[in-house]
Amino acid sequence: MKRKPEPFKIKMVEPLKMTTREQREEALIQAGYNPFLLKSKDVYIDLLTDSGTGAMSDNQWAGLMLGDEAYAGSKSYYHIVDAVQDIFGYKYVVPTHQGRGAEQVLFPNLIKKKGQYVLGNMHFDTTKAHIELNGGRALNFVTEKAFDTTTYYDWKGNFDLEKLENFIKEKGAEEIAFILMTITCNSSGGEPVAMANLRAVSEIGKKYGIRVFIDAARFAENAYFIKKREEGYADKSIKEIVTEMFSYAEGFTMSAKKDAIVNIGGLCGVKEDEELFTAVRSRVVPMEGFVTYGGLAGRDMECLARGLYEGIDEDYLDYRISQVEYLGERLREAGIPIQYPTGGHAVFVDAKKILPHIPYHQFPAQVLCNAIYLESGVRPVEVGSFLLGRDPETGEPLESPLELVRLTIPRRVYTNDHMDVVAEAIISVKDKAASLKGLEFTYEPKVLRHFTARLKPIE
Ligand SMILES: *Cc1c(COP(=O)(O)O)cnc(C)c1O
Repeated sequence: MKRKPEPFKIKMVEPLKMTTREQREEALIQAGYNPFLLKSKDVYIDLLTDSGTGAMSDNQWAGLMLGDEAYAGSKSYYHIVDAVQDIFGYKYVVPTHQGRGAEQVLFPNLIKKKGQYVLGNMHFDTTKAHIELNGGRALNFVTEKAFDTTTYYDWKGNFDLEKLENFIKEKGAEEIAFILMTITCNSSGGEPVAMANLRAVSEIGKKYGIRVFIDAARFAENAYFIKKREEGYADKSIKEIVTEMFSYAEGFTMSAKKDAIVNIGGLCGVKEDEELFTAVRSRVVPMEGFVTYGGLAGRDMECLARGLYEGIDEDYLDYRISQVEYLGERLREAGIPIQYPTGGHAVFVDAKKILPHIPYHQFPAQVLCNAIYLESGVRPVEVGSFLLGRDPETGEPLESPLELVRLTIPRRVYTNDHMDVVAEAIISVKDKAASLKGLEFTYEPKVLRHFTARLKPIE
């Protein structure tokens, strides 16, 4: 595959240190065979997450100096308001410290009674946690095609509309708190949702009187896929596509640490419902900070306002999506099974297919992550049974339908040569796959174990 060159040049560099295999072996033992516990100084290429790890532009760094630190009525806040009105067509917005801050100021206003459902294509983990903290039940309606990693489908983030509507008919609209459309669908592989699907979900919402919202972390990458893949959008600008996408919802939560290319920040937007926005604002003050800063410094807001425009720049998106696709194609050419096609922000490697001899309760994807780190200093992250945890009632280990290694690409940070290092590491690990051993716990915390658990190889 021909590589698309970077639409930027490098003005400042951050040195990376190569480590030896012996150093990495020692670092991995110290980290309890859990990449989350590695020190970043021991990592050469860090593909743990694309969240808050992007590189800001010269324009954003200049904005940092111009940030208005007024406690109330900051100019930088109004730059965000202007950008949100212009790009999304929404009247109201509050900044928050990050995406989960937006969730905690919006969701309590929408979940009216205990046990109400929140229907999504596939909820992100903090999103699910905030739904449950507010007494709601989070359910996923993503298309079955998302679970078939090898078969090409343009829209592996789409809702299964029939299942969604049948569920609403069965339970009754009053049991549904709201519908949340996550774009792109992070948990299925950063896979896009089609405009037709967003429109159809919004029509279902109207038909049954259910409110529809957007989890907007990767809104620009989703718009790019619509432009490239969906009929009727090739000649539209990314901004026009974004405005149409957001016309199908009445509000959004956003982690600005992804497509707005800042290191910290979030937003909660409301299209026109003044009553809802008033309710959101009254939660922002005690939870996040005064309504014109929401837990951010003025300089953070200035960078965010500028980042919203840089994230929808088409040359940038062309390069961004093609870098992810390039890594995916290199792996596919070498016979490595991945979620196909690749989505917006990551390549997901199917570890179950590479390590069939390791059962789910010995965490094949975690084994593969560690092997990739040992080989090359590249840090991926496990998305499988290790992340899933145990059944809260029986304590039995749960089996995830997919055992994936996620190679998450930070924005504007690594070059295509770095992608070659990653591909070559995984290709050489695959040749040694049969010799890799499963893992067992030496320490297992009760909740969110993937962050702090310690493991060792089973001899
Ligand atoms: C990252 C993310 C969030 C949470 O945002 P934070 O900024 O990490 O708090 C919510 N939803 C999706 C889809 C995300 O990717």
